Order: sequence, then structure tokens, then C-alpha cells
Amino acid sequence: MIILLKENANARQVDNLKKFLTNRGFDLHISEGTQHTLIGLIGDTSKLDIDLISSLDVVESVRRIQEPYKNANRKFHTADTVVDVGGAKIGGGHFMMIAGPCSVETHDQILSVAESVKASGANMLRGGAFKPRTSPYAFQGLHEKGIELLREAKKQTGLPIITEIMDINHLPLFEDVDVIQVGARNMQNFELLKELGQTRKPILLKRGLANTIEELLMSAEYIMAGGNEQVILCERGIRTFETATRNTLDLSAVPVLHKLTHLPVVVDPSHGTGVNDLVHPMALAAVAAGADGLIIEVHNDPPHALCDGKQSLTPEQFDHLAKAVRGILPFAAKEMTWE
Ligand code: PEP
Ligand code: MN
Repeated sequence: MIILLKENANARQVDNLKKFLTNRGFDLHISEGTQHTLIGLIGDTSKLDIDLISSLDVVESVRRIQEPYKNANRKFHTADTVVDVGGAKIGGGHFMMIAGPCSVETHDQILSVAESVKASGANMLRGGAFKPRTSPYAFQGLHEKGIELLREAKKQTGLPIITEIMDINHLPLFEDVDVIQVGARNMQNFELLKELGQTRKPILLKRGLANTIEELLMSAEYIMAGGNEQVILCERGIRTFETATRNTLDLSAVPVLHKLTHLPVVVDPSHGTGVNDLVHPMALAAVAAGADGLIIEVHNDPPHALCDGKQSLTPEQFDHLAKAVRGILPFAAKEMTWE
């Protein structure tokens, strides 16, 4: 961080600032110019309040050199994080395919989808039990019963399960859930993130509808600051002026995130496009860009799905996609194997 002092800054106040900074453990590099003085801070500035420093009388401006996140930062942790979900791994060259319906609807639906995605090579089963719907009149999910059905599907297929949490009070229901999903709408629910930081379960953190990559990393930092380092990031499309697709899938987020962080990155082309026939091409593009995994909505009967049928693949379409992913994996931007 570099602090530019005002011209003719009060010497006593500057001294106080220097003392404050050295007391906080920083080494200071002072550069006296003809008009302005610069203070270069050497040390971890992620916990320093930039607004507080900027507001001081003697300070003209402050510039961050280092990113405001530390635990998620690749600079402090150069090796890829590998998240191990009951033997299924993601990150560090391990590719993971997550598939399943938008929502758990019935026993037969989730079991049949689980069996078919497993046969196509999926490593984890998704299915919403608590659904964040825009309309309060839309299907809200089966709640506890949905998790129970996921548990049954896990028992029958051996697939680990992922489902979304919307309220920290529901955490006891997630005991047998292998990965807890934080949806786009809760990416900046900081109290929820802090509580999840106290758990030791892997968290799949989806990018918010209108959030920057840095904000996504700061949200990951909330979880990691609590000691839970098993965070998987998910690009699921952002809001732009474009209306041809449900969201704009920001695939450049994949290589950008790989530069900035050691955490694995999953792409969700289902919510990213919102359209059935766009899922396949964008899934392949995500793999080519180096995504560590995909999360795909699959439904046994998309026209009758209670949620997101328009973007759901049939089991046959998913099987076709899985084969294409295997074909493209050797050409991906990152060397990866899919077991
Ligand atoms: C989901 O994955 O079921 C979901 C609701 O996605 P998002 O939070 O990305 O909208
Ligand atoms: Mn959905």
C-alpha cells in the first residue's frame, strides 16, 4: 500500500500516522519528494482499513498494491487447493463433474437422475432443497424432505451430494450433505459466510448476480478467515444489458481467478445461459478455459420440471456432453484428469 501525503502536511500528525503504522507491524519506506511525501507500507495490509487512512487530514490518497484478500490469494499460497469430497477431488488437476436437477422434486425423480448422471461419469449429485425463487408463489423446494431424498440418492448411488443453504439455522439439516452451496443471491450474506467459515465442510460459493471477481474473492475470504479453507468458487453468469441469455457467462473469470487464487473454479453454464441448447457449447468452452469442474442441471423430464426446465439437460443430452468433455479435456488450458 502506498500513502501519498498532502503538501505541507502537519509534521506532528505525520509522525502520529507513522507511529500508528509501525505499531501495527508495518515496515515503512519513506520517499520524500520536492512537494509530496510517499509512505510505502511493507507487510500484510489486508486487515488495514483503507477508508480510515484515506480520511486522515494529512493524507492525499491511498493506493493498494496488494489485493485485500490473503487466505484466498495465490501470492501467499502458490499451490492449487485440492478439495476432497469423500474421495472425489477437485482442483490441482482433478476435474469434477457435478450434475442433477435444479430442485429435488420426488423420490423417483432424484433417484432416476442420480443413477443416470452417475452412469455418465458425474462425481457429485446436485439438487436444491431450499430454493431461492424470485417469486414467493413459485415452488420453494421440499426443504427437509428434499435433503432426505438426496441422502437416499447418495446411499443408492454412492455419489456425494451438494445442496444450497439459505439460512444458517438450517445447518443441522446439512450434516450428511457433502458440499454446502452458497447461491448467487447470498454471496454477500456476510453473517452466513462467517458461520460457514466455522464449519469444516467444503463450500461451493457462487458468484453474485452483479458482483466483481474481487468481491467473489472477498466473500471466499470471509469463509476462509474462519478457518474453513475448503472453498470452491463458481462462475454462474452475471447481469449485463444482454437479454438473449438469462445471464452473461463470464468465462474470462476462469483464467483470471486461476491467476489470483489457488481455489478451484467451477462453471455453471445452466444458470449462465438459461437455455438448454446453449449449455453444451458453453460447458465445453468452460473446460477449454481451464475450469476445474462443471455444475450442470439435468432433469428426467425437463418440460415438466418445477424449476429451470428450460435450461435443464435430459439425461441423454448430459451423457452426450460428458463424452464431449472427455474429448476436450486433453486440450484444456490446464492439465486435468477426470476420474
Ligand atoms: C442453483 O444452483 O440452484 C441456483 C439457484 O443457482 P444461482 O444461485 O447461481 O442462481
Ligand atoms: Mn436452477
